[in-house]
Parts: sequence; structure tokens; C-alpha cells
Amino acid sequence: MIDSLVRGCIADLTPYSTARDEYGGELGVFLDANESPYDNGCNRYPDPHQRRLKERLSAVKGVPAENIFVGNGSDEAIDLLFRVFCEPREDNALAIAPSYGMYRVAAAINDIEMREVRLGEDFALPVDELLRRADARTKLLFLCSPNNPTGNSFPRADMLRLADGFGGIVVVDEAYIDFSEEEGLCREIFARPNLVVLQTLSKAWAMAGLRVGLALADRRVVELMSMVKYPYNIDVAAMRMAERLLDDPIDEKVAALREQRDAVAAVLSRFRFVERVYPSDANFLLVRVDDADAVYDRLIGEGIIVRNRSRIEGCEGCLRITIGLEEENMKLLKTLERYEKESIVR
Ligand SMILES: *Cc1c(COP(=O)(O)O)cnc(C)c1O
Repeated sequence: MIDSLVRGCIADLTPYSTARDEYGGELGVFLDANESPYDNGCNRYPDPHQRRLKERLSAVKGVPAENIFVGNGSDEAIDLLFRVFCEPREDNALAIAPSYGMYRVAAAINDIEMREVRLGEDFALPVDELLRRADARTKLLFLCSPNNPTGNSFPRADMLRLADGFGGIVVVDEAYIDFSEEEGLCREIFARPNLVVLQTLSKAWAMAGLRVGLALADRRVVELMSMVKYPYNIDVAAMRMAERLLDDPIDEKVAALREQRDAVAAVLSRFRFVERVYPSDANFLLVRVDDADAVYDRLIGEGIIVRNRSRIEGCEGCLRITIGLEEENMKLLKTLERYEKESIVR
């Protein structure tokens, strides 16, 4: 089923074979890759198959290494899905809106028509409308759960209904899954070759600076993405550091952030200028206020940077606020308290 969706040029591709592909051992005399022999910790090329990192990720995620693609951030995985499956100017993709902006950007860069379907009341997933908008040339369908910037998760049964009812690849971006009450779909990939689950080390795992994103999928999809990626897409330093940081459990930090999120939401909802604090299953809050630009400018003036989403269709009047350390969140709330007092005087 997967192979019938792949672009012709990718199906026919002979991928680049790296110098060390033929040699499985660790020790040896390496005179094959024109590297420097002087050991400074990074004189050798990284493992293009990322075997050790994938073993660590496999243990953490409970998914076999052969079902894991590792990318230079999830953004690489998103771009590769377009490059593997979508023929420029012929195929199209579907996504929900509002959602993560990168799906649209990656589609545009690859010259692929993107069809966006607005979320329903209270940001509900429009399952039937998505299925209606798909045609024979729709290769990818992007969902994001918990969704950025709305913060809500979609019902598991709805996402699986899409995976089962859609003839192309369903991509479920789970960048925020570690903060969620929900379990995530990564164990559903074994029964559904057209399901790709994106995860990342950038959020709950606190490694945004390393650029490590994952696609969990059928092994054929992983194989196709690996054929198309740059051979050395994850560098030696990032790989080593990610392997080490994956040993530190994140449960306590995730629990603390969730607690802070709920505490900040409770205080925010009492301000008079706050019209709505949307329920969040992630590490941020979407907040509708009476004058988003004024609140945003006031915060910037105090050195507090939030994301102004008020010009995004479906997010009118909204700011997206990431949950920080307790003292950072307190500074935010104190600033907003002063803002409220002054607006009452005026
Ligand atoms: C932050 C985020 C990512 C992470 O991207 P990386 O490239 O892995 O840092 C992916 N998807 C969504 C929806 C995000 O908000």
C-alpha cells in the first residue's frame, strides 16, 4: 500500500552509500572516508543510521528501532514526508487549521497545494470534512495532538477513523504528547502502515537546541525517509548529548510544568481583560483577551515575550503563553495584574 503512494523518482532512487556502510564493527583502521586521523572527539563522521541513539529511543518509547526515523528536528521529518510522497504541482496535502505553521511552509517549499480545514466549535476535529476534502491526489493529512496553538488533544477514535478512512499517509504530530493526559498513537503504527507519528526531544525532553525529532512509523516508511535524508543529518555532538540526556527521567519536570500550567490558568481566568483560557493538554496556554496587541506590547515592555496569535484565523484575540519556571510565571502574572489595575484607572 505504501509503495503505491511514493513518488516515482524516489521509488527509483539509488541512495547515497556512505563510506562505512559496508563495515559494522566499532574498532578498525579507518582509511575510507578521507577524515583526519587526529582524535578530537569529532574527527570521524557520525553514524548515518544513528544505531546507538535509536536503541536508546527504542527503550524509552517502547517501539522497535526499525520503526524509528531520527531527523534534524521534526521539521526535517515533515519536509521529508513531502519529498517522499508528494509530486510537485500534482499531488496535494490536507491539514487542520489553526495548527503548526510548518506544514504549510513545507508544502509551499515543495510546491504542493495545501488544503486547510478549519477546526470546529471549541477546536473540534472535523473528521468528515477532512475526508470530504481528500481526493485521489491527496497524499498527506497532517493532524497535531495536542494541537499547537489551541492546546487541546483530539479523540483517539477520531484520529484512528481518519487513518483507516483516508487513502494516503496520516501524520499525527505529537510534539506535546509527554504533557498530555492521553496515551498517544505510537503503538497504532503496527496495525496501520499509513500512520506516521511525529515526536520530538525539543519540548518535554528539554533538547530544543540539539535538533532531534522522531517519526515513528511502518518500517517501509522509515526506510523511504532514511533514503532521502542527508546521510549525516544528526551530528556527533547532538547524538552523544541526546543519548546522555535520555538517561535523565523527565517525569518530575513534566509534572511540575503541568501543575504550573493549571495554576497559571486559574489566575489568568480571574483577570477582567481575559475572555477565555482554553483548556490545555500541553505546556502552553491559549488565552483570549480583549486587546491582544495591547497586552502583548505591555509584556514586551517588561521583557516578557509571548506569542501573539491574534492574526491567525480561528485565534482572533489570542496570545499563546508558554509555561516557564515558577518565578517566570509569577513575573508574568504580576505584570498582568499591574496592567489590569492601570486599565481600570483609565
Ligand atoms: C515545537 C513543535 C515541534 C518540534 O519541532 P522540532 O523541529 O522537533 O523542534 C513539532 N511540531 C509542533 C506542533 C511543535 O509545536
